[in-house]
Amino acid sequence: MLTASVDRARNLIIINSEGPFMEPTLKVHGVRFNLGLSDRQLRGLLLLHEVGHLTGKFQHDGSDPDLSRSYSKRVMEACFR
Ligand SMILES: [Zn+2]
Repeated sequence: MLTASVDRARNLIIINSEGPFMEPTLKVHGVRFNLGLSDRQLRGLLLLHEVGHLTGKFQHDGSDPDLSRSYSKRVMEACFR
């Protein structure tokens, strides 16, 4: 599921209004998406993940869920532990 994406040329983070940012209790394949975080923390994590793309720290991961997860894990470990 696409949670968000970035438009680096316009310096924008684009949130999927039907994704987990708006609905943090969403389940994907029966598993809650929120990584054990509170709703507010999850939203923070999603934004920081996209900031990683905006700044060029993270590569494009739109078709690589494992890479995307590894980036989210890095944000989680750096900011929420
Ligand atoms: Zn990503």
